[in-house]
Amino acid sequence: MPAKFRLGIDIGGNDIKFGATNFEADKILLPDLVKRPSLSAEGPQRTIRQTLDGIKDILISLRGQWPDVASIAVTVPCPCTSDGVIIEATNLGTPETKKLWQTPFGELLAAEVSKVAKVSIPVFACNDANAAGQDDDYARYGQSTSERTNFFITTGTGLGGCILVNGAVFFGRGQSGELGHVKPAVPAQYAPRFAADPNPPCGCGGRQCVEARASLKGLMRRLEWALGRAGISFIEQDLKGRGEKLNGNVLAQLSPRFQENPQQAAYLVRNFADRERDPFCRWLLEDWAIMIGALFASLAPVLHPDLLIIGGGLTELSQEAKDWFIGIVRRVYQEVNAQTTFDSNKGNCEIVWSMSQDQGWRGAILMALRAEGRKTPPK
Ligand SMILES: [Zn+2]
Repeated sequence: MPAKFRLGIDIGGNDIKFGATNFEADKILLPDLVKRPSLSAEGPQRTIRQTLDGIKDILISLRGQWPDVASIAVTVPCPCTSDGVIIEATNLGTPETKKLWQTPFGELLAAEVSKVAKVSIPVFACNDANAAGQDDDYARYGQSTSERTNFFITTGTGLGGCILVNGAVFFGRGQSGELGHVKPAVPAQYAPRFAADPNPPCGCGGRQCVEARASLKGLMRRLEWALGRAGISFIEQDLKGRGEKLNGNVLAQLSPRFQENPQQAAYLVRNFADRERDPFCRWLLEDWAIMIGALFASLAPVLHPDLLIIGGGLTELSQEAKDWFIGIVRRVYQEVNAQTTFDSNKGNCEIVWSMSQDQGWRGAILMALRAEGRKTPPK
């Protein structure tokens, strides 16, 4: 009997999600993803056992058996070679288990799968940002391999990226598209707002990476300054110049939350910026928009792209907040770029939101198909 399903699995630091498509990968089979708290901190072997358990549950929902599985694709929040070896466990594991994650994860999982399934099933592992970019490409263009070059970023805990050439992820020597570690200069007119924090450290060990400012991690560090006396006074002055005022209630909620749990405080900033349109919180999110605008302006001359796409957690903002945010990105982009060739117009360096619905797992399936040298199936 021919295999019927393809499985996609998103392994994150917080949770692990399982999805399935039909063999052609053009139909999502389960309306709800299977989602579990991630055990990745305990190392890859524990995650492999958890993955096998999740697959068994998916097979029950699909009323299928192991031999029905045509392929398995997994995403990991780490740089991976094009054949699925994790080079560095940047966002997985603890200081004790990080080293264990530097492993050919796809091969290890394939070996365990074949023991349990009694059949050999190909397993493909890839970086989650690449998979998210691939899924966005599919949502836009389906199977088309028409000539195009797009940059894709995903902003959330960190800032991941992906370069897509004619619909395929561009790997270079392996690590192309690590756009969070591009170091765009802060545009001169915005330098004062970053003066207190001119050389932010990045998780990669570098300094001034765009991820160090345009990410939840960056926002957490930023809050330490912003909620201190100097930060509040600077932001208050800046807002005054635009006829806006601080809301004492918001600060009164943010400060204790930050002391307890900086990550939750950062989420709170995002929520206040979105739902309350709070000036202080929007000022902080502007950091991201300014740096993404500067990043895009730096990238445009590299490949002269059709699209510069923003994906990840920010796509969950309300439409009003998304319009506000992308408006700043576009403005900063135009402020930095003087060359008319790179003017952001329709289809020419156009800055847009991602069309993917957080379906990196499906992107991984599509990447695996491309890696097999097959054409992405029709949409
Ligand atoms: Zn970096």
